[in-house]
Amino acid sequence: MAILPIVQLGDPILRIPTIPVRRFDRTLGHLLDDMTDTMRDAPGVGLAANQIARTERICVIEVEGRHIELVNPVMVRTSGTQSDLEGCLSVEGYYAPTTRALKAVVTAMDRRGRPVRVSGAGFLARALQHELDHLDGRIYVDLAEMDRLRHVDDERDDEQDDEQDDEEDDR
Ligand code: ZN
Repeated sequence: MAILPIVQLGDPILRIPTIPVRRFDRTLGHLLDDMTDTMRDAPGVGLAANQIARTERICVIEVEGRHIELVNPVMVRTSGTQSDLEGCLSVEGYYAPTTRALKAVVTAMDRRGRPVRVSGAGFLARALQHELDHLDGRIYVDLAEMDRLRHVDDERDDEQDDEQDDEEDDR
């Protein structure tokens, strides 16, 4: 069990599609455990392997009290639309309105190679789309309304100009 460094936007590994897992061994289980620890520590609601500089097509999600591990996930169906604020552990501190499908159905395998199917609506559907995008080398900022990108400290920055300057350098 370990907390791993999370890769930030600009690192090329976030743009490289991940590779399907073939070996369902103890190493895979350990990696999924480390990803869960890292996600909880951040804290976040999802983490894809390329966010910790790995190439496996795996992700973890924790939404609405549900812990989900997806190995080699495939999006099989989406429907409807929703628009809400979205953020990412690899774009730390920022969020922006992002349009997604309202419902999503994913098939995948668990850590032992058994088939799983996850169907979600609302926030879970958003998380599924966000994580599967990561695994294909896409990041939510590709879809978000970037003119409405906000930093979590935006309201405070009015009083703290120095800090705001630092943050602008980070973009
Ligand atoms: Zn993300």
